[in-house]
Order: sequence, then C-alpha cells, then structure tokens
Amino acid sequence: MSEPKLLTPKVAIIGAGPAGLSAAKKLAGRSGGEVLVVDREKEAGGIPRHADHLGYGIRDRKRFMSGPAYARALVAEARNAGATIMTRTMVTGWADDKTLVATTPHGRVLIRPEVFCFATGARERPRTARMIPGTRPDGILTTGQLQNRVHLNHDAVGTKAVVVGAELVSWSAVMTLAESGCRTIALVSEYDKPESYGLFTGPGQLWFRTRVTRNAKVVRIHGKERVSGVEIEHTTSGSREIIECDTVVFTGSWIPDNELLRMAGVTLDPASRSPVVDAVGATSKPGIFAVGNLNHPVETADVVALEGENVADRILEHLRGTSSPMEAVAITVDDPIAWISPSTYTPRGPRPARGRFVAWVDRLITRPIVTVRQGGRVVASKRLWWPAAPGRAFRIPSSLLQNVDPTGGDVRISIG
Ligand SMILES: Cc1cc2nc3c(=O)[nH]c(=O)nc-3n(C[C@H](O)[C@H](O)[C@H](O)COP(=O)(O)OP(=O)(O)OC[C@H]3O[C@@H](n4cnc5c(N)ncnc54)[C@H](O)[C@@H]3O)c2cc1C
Repeated sequence: MSEPKLLTPKVAIIGAGPAGLSAAKKLAGRSGGEVLVVDREKEAGGIPRHADHLGYGIRDRKRFMSGPAYARALVAEARNAGATIMTRTMVTGWADDKTLVATTPHGRVLIRPEVFCFATGARERPRTARMIPGTRPDGILTTGQLQNRVHLNHDAVGTKAVVVGAELVSWSAVMTLAESGCRTIALVSEYDKPESYGLFTGPGQLWFRTRVTRNAKVVRIHGKERVSGVEIEHTTSGSREIIECDTVVFTGSWIPDNELLRMAGVTLDPASRSPVVDAVGATSKPGIFAVGNLNHPVETADVVALEGENVADRILEHLRGTSSPMEAVAITVDDPIAWISPSTYTPRGPRPARGRFVAWVDRLITRPIVTVRQGGRVVASKRLWWPAAPGRAFRIPSSLLQNVDPTGGDVRISIG
C-alpha cells in the first residue's frame, strides 16, 4: 500500500457548512498560507444544501434565501477568496496530536496544519439512540436523512407520516414530506407548548392539514417490513394511542459531531457534549478551534456563519502570535438551562459573536428574568422580552456579564 500523501496547509477547517465556509472566506488570503476546507460529502455547503426552503441568510446576508442558494453563495465566496475545498474527504482520526487522517476517493491523506478549526456541526439523535422499543421496519428517518433522500436523491418516502418533535426543524421535515407527496398526520411533542414559534404552529397545522399532539411521547414503533404505526403515550393521562402511518421522522434532539475533538482530548461540556470554548472558539488545546453547531446544537445558519467570521479573526491573531492569554472564568447554569455556549467568559477579552451567549432550556419561560451571580453576589439581573423555549436557541446578551470580576471565580446564570 502506498504512503498517504501529506498536506500541510496553514489552516485546516474540518466541515464545509456555513461555519467552516464563513471562517474560510475570511482566512483565505490573510493567513499567510493555504486555507484547506475538507468535507465528507460530495458537495460543500453543509445542511443548507438539502434544506430546500426559504429561511436562510437573514442576519448575515440581510436576505431571505433558500438553503441550497445560501450554500452555493457561501461556497463561491470561500473559493473566490482563495480557500481550497476538498470534498469526499472524511476525517477519521488522528495520526498524532498534530496530524489528522482522512480518506478520499484517491486514498488516505494526512493533514498537518498550523491551526485546526473544527466545524463539523451536529446531527439528530436517530431512533436507535432514543431507546424506543418495537420492530425495526423501513420508513424510519431523521430530518437529515429525509432531506437527503428527497432533495438530493429524489427518492420517494411514504404516504402518511408522523413527525416526532414540533420545533422549527420538525416543520422543515413536514415541508419536505409534503413536497414528496407524503402527508403528515401528526407532530408529536413531549412539551405542553409546541417548541416552534406560534407563527409556524398555527398556520402550519392548517396549511399541512396536520395536528400537533402535545404532552405525548412515542413509546413503540409497529410494523414488519414497513412501519405501520407509532404508539404514543399521553403523558398527562397515561393513555395510549396508535397513529397509523408508514413513515416516522425523528427531529431535533441534537448531538454535536464531537468525535474528533474527543479523540484529541479536548475538554467537552458534560451537558451538551460540545467542546468547552472561549468567546471566540478556542478549545482547551492550543491551536484547536471549534465553531458553529458543534459548539451549540443548534443555532440558525446565519448566526453560525457570523461566528465563523468571528473565529477567523481569532485564528489570525493566533497565527500572528498577537493573542495573549487572559483570565477566564467558568460559567455554570441552573435548571431549566441545560447548557450555555461559550461556557467560559474572559472579562477583559473579546465578546462572543453578536454579543450573545447561546443557551438551551428544558422548560418554557415566556418573559424570563436572567440573573448573573458571582461568589453569591448578583452581578446583573434583567427581564428579556423574548421567551426561553425548549427546542430552539435561547440567546443571552453578553452585556449582562460586563461587571464580572476576572478574579472573582465561577459565574452562575439562572432564569426564572
Ligand atoms: C432540517 C433543517 C432545516 C433548517 N432550516 C434552517 C433555516 O431555515 N434557516 C436557518 O438559518 N437555519 C436552518 N437550519 C439550521 C442550519 O442548517 C444550521 O444552523 C447550519 O447548517 C449549521 O452550520 P454548521 O457549519 O455548524 O454545520 P453543518 O451545516 O452541519 O456542516 C457541518 C459539515 O461538516 C461535515 N463533517 C462532519 N464531520 C466530518 C468529518 N469527520 N470529516 C469531514 N467532514 C465532516 C459535514 O459533512 C457537514 O457538511 C436548519 C437545519 C435543519 C437540520
């Protein structure tokens, strides 16, 4: 077997989604060497490539674009800026602590850059990881698998579907099902209020002639060769119901694609399983940065793209040797906040992208009061005018932490 080829770019970006491509666009031509972006898919662009509906580009491009158009624009900009994009290149592990191993259609390659930037995104938990009993028939998908099948491979799915979850991504699945001629009988949500915005839930139910069944969870899947129904339990009454369908789509319940960072010994947040990063994406290992939904599963693509540009600035500082270590404090959170990103804060350092922390909550609070404490002292407390809702990113302004003492120890954030 021939020796794997060694690639030595200045910066290697793993993942050509909105985060990786936006970082590449800003780094190319400025980093003093090659900026190489690798992706396992046959085309660059990440999730938007197959999320074929409007809703992309609002904050970063001030436009309302479809996912594929948005992906094409990001790819073109990164290429025009001079980045090299290698697709069908799956990073599988580490040869040593400075070298990644990847498989390509032409054989294995080794990638040894000065800086690594991981932008591998997040994926939905499949049925197997959700411990749902029953048979293993055809017709069980995640949104990602569904959209790949319908938008990229143009395959049929089924005729009657149940969507598990009622967040924004769940409605994206309903839209894709409708396009492929499959009717959604119901969206099943474990929460008492659907996770998505009322703007989607009300009209969505009418438009797609479907219903959102709240306070319910899927307890069994029925069917031999093909799904014949899902059994749900209404959690308030304990009663059960079988909904007949031939397709089940599991949506949301995100897992960050953290495998390569875990292998590198990067510190992970125990709640989100994302890398612990500072405001601009530096992980616990010098020279390894992380950005996008890998850090917070999940945010929208425009926010992630702006983070990509933010991490690029920090990588440039790192390459020029102008970044200096500063005192950082750890951030911990109280229930119902499940996790926060970034989970460290540098009082005299840069702010997180867009001056916001991203958090995830397990319970709806319509007008949350966010309180920041340090060593028992209340640093700030403010009522926000947007809700903290399960199934979507809850954004906390970083200005609430501006009076944190760099030497005062951990910061605790709670909402009520
Ligand atoms: C169904 C759906 C609908 C959505 N709708 C919207 C919307 O309307 N508007 C909006 O703003 N956002 C939307 N989003 C969210 C948006 O798509 C994401 O926020 C965005 O794609 C995240 O970008 P990312 O770069 O972090 O990750 P991704 O887009 O997931 O990109 C990660 C890339 O890393 C690659 N990769 C992972 N591991 C490896 C490896 N080991 N080797 C090589 N490559 C690897 C993957 O192939 C992928 O291309 C939607 C998401 C979904 C799932």
